[in-house]
Amino acid sequence: KTLAKAMVFSEFGNPRDVLRTASYPLPQHSDNEVSVRYLASPINPSDINQIQGVYPSRPPFTHDVSPSKPSAVAGNEGLLEITGVGKNLEKLYSPGQWAVMASTNLGTWRTRNNLAPNQLIALDKSAFPSIVEAATLTVNPCTAYCLLKKIVPMEKGDWFIQDGANSMVGLAAIQLAKHFGFNSINVIRNRPDVDQLKQQLYSMGANVVITDEELMNRAWMKENVPKWTQGNKVKLGIDCISGRVATEMAKYMSEGATMATYGGMSRQPLAVPVSLLIFKNIHFHGFWVTKWKSENPKEYEALVLEIQELIREGVLRSANTKLIDIPESADGKSFYDTFLDAIEQHGKSIIQF
Ligand code: NDP
Repeated sequence: KTLAKAMVFSEFGNPRDVLRTASYPLPQHSDNEVSVRYLASPINPSDINQIQGVYPSRPPFTHDVSPSKPSAVAGNEGLLEITGVGKNLEKLYSPGQWAVMASTNLGTWRTRNNLAPNQLIALDKSAFPSIVEAATLTVNPCTAYCLLKKIVPMEKGDWFIQDGANSMVGLAAIQLAKHFGFNSINVIRNRPDVDQLKQQLYSMGANVVITDEELMNRAWMKENVPKWTQGNKVKLGIDCISGRVATEMAKYMSEGATMATYGGMSRQPLAVPVSLLIFKNIHFHGFWVTKWKSENPKEYEALVLEIQELIREGVLRSANTKLIDIPESADGKSFYDTFLDAIEQHGKSIIQF
């Protein structure tokens, strides 16, 4: 039996209070399973919300990894390598192959596991410039793709406006939009080195990058939006932040346009001016990739493979991520400490096992 380690929780709460390391012997895989080693697992905002108990999708608490207390392994996204193949699966998989998770709530903040075929989507590792692109493929690029393609029919030359443009979803939306021929107005928070960040977004394919403070300047926006869009429609809003920024963005969308809110990073509600509803017929929607995946598993698998090809072609690249190493020999305390430090850092951390 191999010894595995995982970050687990048995009750909901603040990650520092409820997470703990579990070390457990992993049984030999069955004839209908593969054994896997996790290569890298990101820490996404929804993973934290799940531990806090404020996320609608909850993993089951079981005795699988912690006989003393029913527990769930944290984390939903991750890249794994197949290390052993059950007798009945030898035609489907081979050791060394990469795969990602076919659904959520499978617990990816762990070193090893045994999985059934319906829990994985196999990748072609030659498509990926690094493990980062593969480890972060199933949540943010899939969300960006769905937001651009499934909310309203967008045609080449159409515009969208998005806040949180430097989030992982935002960066993927910028790159995919360039590939699809859509134009983007991108809102980021002001900061001391804002020109550097603006430059980075332009280099990825953004058409316009503005700060939240510039967005609030109505006279300046009213003058500039028509200059940028040259009479083309702003058909879509993509909202990661909610609150005042989202309200303000909606004012620059064309008549009949739709705003899709997918995140609430400001923790503020979205106030909708009545005039936007009555006189401009702006539609307000939400989007949740977890629900979309669970309702469309075949389409989701096809999307993962399409995004793999976009990564191979160089359309999509990861940026602004921190890869944090945990050696397999790490003891329980340093496993916990490394995870907690990563959780409490600002920005996107990916744990490399
Ligand atoms: P990232 O960590 O990559 O990005 C977070 C973004 O939020 C950055 O742009 C950051 O900007 C901004 N931000 C952080 N704190 C605040 C704040 N207090 N006020 C305003 N902006 C803030 O995250 P992801 O791209 O992984 O996720 C972004 C959001 O999208 C999360 O809420 C996540 O849950 C959600 N999401 C939703 C999905 C869905 O299906 N609905 C799927 C995927 C993600 P700055 O650099 O200025 O701090």
